[in-house]
Amino acid sequence: MIDTPPRLDGVDLHALAAQVGTPTYVYSASAIRDRIQALQHALKGLDTRVCYAVKANANLAVLQLMAEQGVGADIVSVGELRRALRAGIPASRIVYSGVGKTADEIAEAIGMGVWRYNVESHDELRTLQAVAAGRGATVRASARINPDVDAGTHAKISTGKSENKFGVSIDEARHWFAEAAQYPNVRLDGLHAHIGSQILSIKPFRLALQRVAAFARELAGQGRELNCIDVGGGLGVRYRQDQAPPLTPDQYAAMLRETFADFHGRLILEPGRYLVAEAGWLLTRVIRVKPGQQRAFLVVDAAMNDLLRPALYDAWHDIVPLHGRDAETVEYDVVGPVCETGDTFAVRRPMPACRAGDLIAIAGAGAYGAAMASTYNSRPLPAEVLLDRDRYAVVRRRQDYDAMIADECPVQEWSTA
Ligand SMILES: *Cc1c(COP(=O)(O)O)cnc(C)c1O
Repeated sequence: MIDTPPRLDGVDLHALAAQVGTPTYVYSASAIRDRIQALQHALKGLDTRVCYAVKANANLAVLQLMAEQGVGADIVSVGELRRALRAGIPASRIVYSGVGKTADEIAEAIGMGVWRYNVESHDELRTLQAVAAGRGATVRASARINPDVDAGTHAKISTGKSENKFGVSIDEARHWFAEAAQYPNVRLDGLHAHIGSQILSIKPFRLALQRVAAFARELAGQGRELNCIDVGGGLGVRYRQDQAPPLTPDQYAAMLRETFADFHGRLILEPGRYLVAEAGWLLTRVIRVKPGQQRAFLVVDAAMNDLLRPALYDAWHDIVPLHGRDAETVEYDVVGPVCETGDTFAVRRPMPACRAGDLIAIAGAGAYGAAMASTYNSRPLPAEVLLDRDRYAVVRRRQDYDAMIADECPVQEWSTA
């Protein structure tokens, strides 16, 4: 339905690459809509609000798709707030997470009418109270609980262990609720938990959310009925076609039904990766095949500055040559031009033999791909293209060299401070 390369969402990727150049991210709008609908379908009958985690892929066109499907946003900065609003996601569907919200950022969010704040520390709670009071506003907030559960994922994307910087213990949150009267401008009526990303089994979710649900029951027993429980994101995706698909939305929804059977408020979900990862590919061209002392290097024109996940998380991405020739299978190290040994997309990867000029698609690049791109090695940011039923639109043009250095200048005058 969505096809796989060399066609994606009805668009011929060879023709597209010839027109737009490489490296280029391509996203299938149909695939993103399918994911949203699969999730919404699984959640039928539950009182939920899906708030897409903007950090996974913050392109305005992707956010616009979310807005069109009635999906809200989970933001972690004012930059993301501005993007979400610009793309048409109403403030009334935006939740604000993150350990480092400043008073200025909170003030801007309150001014825009952001729906809820996921509060991660006592100091933040006091800041939220002070800023809201100063503006004569009342805000809704959830206490972000750190349930001390190992999400069973990569250490750099685990967030729910007691040693992680995120959230507070249930003990501390208990005090917040007990002293809630001290925060008259903060309606503390929710709990939040997000234990990590790329989670592939239901167990850590269930364990963490059972702790949250038990705490919600305890609060209800004291007459503090909660309005919302935000269960975070973290749903894993399939990065290797030769592996079984991970958790389905139906399994996830069944876990929510069971865990929150006696909770009568609304559940907020914050999926990022699940909605966009598998809808995106990074198109790149082979610059040359370099024979190495151990094995051959396939040097491509994308690099770690375009797609950081392999270097940062040792992440696997399927790599699909699109040349379509009959070719023997050979093993390559697939590398970019950046001057770092970590600039490696794959090691000893068996794939059909390639030549200079061949087009290649790197799978699973829709989440934490373009969003993490940089200009390291003075490589301009890649282009991004949205595909939708036989058509495409360039939704971020390739950065040009002038734009890359536009904010810099040689010293013209010195100031003192
Ligand atoms: C990153 C993040 C998410 C999204 O995580 P995914 O694994 O991409 O679903 C959701 N909520 C919070 C608070 C986050 O920091």
